[in-house]
Amino acid sequence: MFRINRKILMQCPCCTANICGSEEYPKIHGTVSFFQACNGSILVTEIFNLPSENGVFAMHIHNGKACTGNEKDPFADAGSHLNFTCEEHPFHSGDLPALFSNNGYAWNAVYTNRFQPMKVKGYPVIIHCNPDDFKTQPSGNSGNKIACGIIK
Ligand SMILES: [Zn+2]
Repeated sequence: MFRINRKILMQCPCCTANICGSEEYPKIHGTVSFFQACNGSILVTEIFNLPSENGVFAMHIHNGKACTGNEKDPFADAGSHLNFTCEEHPFHSGDLPALFSNNGYAWNAVYTNRFQPMKVKGYPVIIHCNPDDFKTQPSGNSGNKIACGIIK
């Protein structure tokens, strides 16, 4: 048995994703910080200017290498959900709890042992326009990608 030591969060994060909205959602910005903890990671997420007062927005780590795309999908090159272990959704390595908007502001923290921070460096964090249903394959029917940031 182990427990999370809160002192972990007083150290510098191992890596951080700076999140930026797509052309359609230029006001969205924020960070996802990754801390090493108990053979896994703690992610602390803070996002500003989500596009609804009290909406719920899916968030995942994807398996692509860039926050670029095309007219139809501004972050198409972010790829699909990061999946080191060939699991189905929502058991992908990159599956995460959703963000809850508080007048456009969201903050959350989560512990996962599906990856160590260094293992996800270089991959993109994606925020979607809808909640994740944690059921539909392959990605929880969470809708368009509205914001992205590479973990650095
Ligand atoms: Zn997934």
